[in-house]
Amino acid sequence: MKELNKNNPVCVTGANGYVASWIVKKLVEQGINVHAAVRNPSNMNKVGHLIEIGKLGPGSVTLFKSDLLEQGSYENAMKGCEVVFHTASPFTLDVTDPQKQLVDPAVKGTENVLHSASKTPTVKRIVLTSSCAAIYTDAVDCAKAPRGVLTEDVWNTTASLTYQPYSYSKTMAEKKAWELVELQNQWDLVVMNPSFVMGPSLNPKYSTSESTNVLKMLGNGEMKMGAPKMGVGVIDVRDLADAHIAGAFTKEAKGRHIISAHNTNYVEMGRSLLPKYGQSFALPKKALPKWLLLLVGPMVNSLFTRKFIKNNVNIEWKADHSKAKKELGISFRSLQETMEDGFQNLIDAGMLANKK
Ligand code: NAP
Repeated sequence: MKELNKNNPVCVTGANGYVASWIVKKLVEQGINVHAAVRNPSNMNKVGHLIEIGKLGPGSVTLFKSDLLEQGSYENAMKGCEVVFHTASPFTLDVTDPQKQLVDPAVKGTENVLHSASKTPTVKRIVLTSSCAAIYTDAVDCAKAPRGVLTEDVWNTTASLTYQPYSYSKTMAEKKAWELVELQNQWDLVVMNPSFVMGPSLNPKYSTSESTNVLKMLGNGEMKMGAPKMGVGVIDVRDLADAHIAGAFTKEAKGRHIISAHNTNYVEMGRSLLPKYGQSFALPKKALPKWLLLLVGPMVNSLFTRKFIKNNVNIEWKADHSKAKKELGISFRSLQETMEDGFQNLIDAGMLANKK
């Protein structure tokens, strides 16, 4: 693959999303012109922040109307682009029809975007935002992985339409992308597999990402009696944006990349906020006992099934991020900085009112 030219525009799908907005901001700061593909380019609540980013320059932002389920709707946005960042995919856990709400937009949407890339002769590289969810379903899967740690060689084999359908949608979408890359030789594929993304949102009031939901839950007192000690990985949204851009412009970048800074859990995440916010917010301080969660969890939250609790609570999460560090030359913020900046962002946006 030859060197890519930063003078050409790049396309970002789902550009208004929590993760993508940071990718757009950092690209524009590097002087790159961004073709921002969104569902509703006239909805200022969704895109106002992108327009502001574009005004700051030195690069620019041009909005395009595209929908994952509308064939060919990304073609205009891709015109003249060498790189396509494909981030658009529904990230919600609360669904009634997982096939329609998650799997179809994720998989058919990926097919739609990649077919359009093949029809656009300028496109040379696609950076796909997959997820660690395409690698594992439950924390218990870490121990089952070779050497007891998740690597890029591991694939999620346990999610389904009826158990953790979001993880299933990400797994099927990434598999589809690897299948389609083989059918052509115009563009190559570089995949980002982020763990749970935390840190500030560029549009906190209108963010629908589960990342914002979890921060709100930590701060609004819902977990004041304690948090489930569920093993997770965490990555800062700003570091993840850097990883995407490095993935696009590092010639040698290849394959999947686990983008996860910290092997942690919800109790540790809550505790990291205590020094700065412990006096004024009802943050979780301790771990809830697993037996209690097994007893009441399913009644409190339908997503908190006994199987999920059994497979995640008090179980360590472990992933190896050495490939991404070495190949993409990225570094990671501390957990405390990520959590504090994300929390402060919600306070500043007036979204955390439930003080002690
Ligand atoms: P987000 O803020 O909800 O962004 C999702 C984006 O996808 C939005 O722009 C959304 O558009 C778009 N989208 C959803 N359905 C669409 C459709 N049918 N047609 C066109 N666009 C559609 O969530 P996020 O956290 O930034 O997630 C971005 C990507 O990162 C996703 O691929 C997600 O799976 C991946 N990821 C996220 C995390 C995390 O912890 N946040 C971790 C690993 C991977 P609307 O605003 O119009 O709905």
